Amino acid sequence: MAANGTVLVIGAGVIGLSTAVILAESGVPVRVRTDEPPADTTSAVAGAIWGPALLQPADRVRRWVADTYRALVELAADDTSGVHLATGRMAARVDLGDQLPPEALLLPDLRRCTPDELPAGFRSGYRATLPLIDMPRYLEHLTGRLLAAGGELLISPVSSLADAAAEADRIVNCTGVGAHELVGDPGVRPVRGQHVLVRNPGISEYFVEVGAGPEFTSYVPHGDRVVLGGVAGEHDWSRAPDRDDSAAVLRRCAQVEPLLAGAEVLGETVGLRPGRDAVRLETERFGGATVVHDYGHSGCGVSLSWGCAAEAAGLVLGRPVR
Ligand SMILES: Cc1cc2nc3c(=O)[nH]c(=O)nc-3n(C[C@H](O)[C@H](O)[C@H](O)COP(=O)(O)OP(=O)(O)OC[C@H]3O[C@@H](n4cnc5c(N)ncnc54)[C@H](O)[C@@H]3O)c2cc1C
Repeated sequence: MAANGTVLVIGAGVIGLSTAVILAESGVPVRVRTDEPPADTTSAVAGAIWGPALLQPADRVRRWVADTYRALVELAADDTSGVHLATGRMAARVDLGDQLPPEALLLPDLRRCTPDELPAGFRSGYRATLPLIDMPRYLEHLTGRLLAAGGELLISPVSSLADAAAEADRIVNCTGVGAHELVGDPGVRPVRGQHVLVRNPGISEYFVEVGAGPEFTSYVPHGDRVVLGGVAGEHDWSRAPDRDDSAAVLRRCAQVEPLLAGAEVLGETVGLRPGRDAVRLETERFGGATVVHDYGHSGCGVSLSWGCAAEAAGLVLGRPVR
């Protein structure tokens, strides 16, 4: 049983850890229970780039993504955080037109790519400086902050909401794709992603293909490594790397950036994006407990993390935080 007043956060991916950090740094006792260590979560697999999130509920998503942008830009000033700012391209094989999401206004140097900046096969694109997040390092940074603020992190699966409610009367459910089972939400589905990690052959800019289907091209440099993608396999629960996926990812990335052809492969990672038609961030009364659900961030959880965390923390405490 957690000590009186302790908030129980279920999940130690980017959503759970950000929420727990906000609570702990506000002086609230927090315990995080997780099925797997942060380094083994989907969050650790993400590329990751902050970017506009075309998800529902649209108005709230816009606020969360903007709040997270500001928080990540601040974190980039701390070189131990795993966040840095880098310039690169977001490009499409179709004409993206001039209709940009409102979050684009946050990016001071956003501009259209000139034709000679587009790789073969791409018709349009934008250049901008964005936060890039080296997720294994970033999750360590968040864990360090949680522990430094007096929070606890336990590797301890939660079997049901009743199990959680027996331990604490304030709970935040940040279980990602695990919400499918924990709360029996049939709307949560896996969208499988696979990355190939290579030794950095000298790349400092990111590239991400937008508006594509289940196979696309992305590469994100983090110091001496580059994270190559991408794959988006709907309803695929497999967490095993697939050799054909890796070969296709390497081929597509090398077509855009020839420096990547023949780069030394360091590993392959797989993560299950928590797909859902809309992010679920709301309060439920369960027995005597207040449960705030915060899951279903699809392919954008890193980009939404601080905005959602502040709202979830406010809901569970019944007062605004930060
Ligand atoms: C290949 C790939 C690339 C991506 N790139 C980006 C990107 O560039 N930008 C971006 O914003 N997003 C990106 N994403 C999406 C992002 O990674 C997810 O939206 C985000 O990680 C979801 O975070 P989460 O904390 O909700 O889930 P997770 O990271 O999956 O964490 C869930 C946590 O809940 C725990 N858990 C589950 N069930 C239980 C239980 N019953 N008991 C206890 N603990 C439980 C798990 O152990 C884990 O700790 C990418 C994802 C993938 C796979």
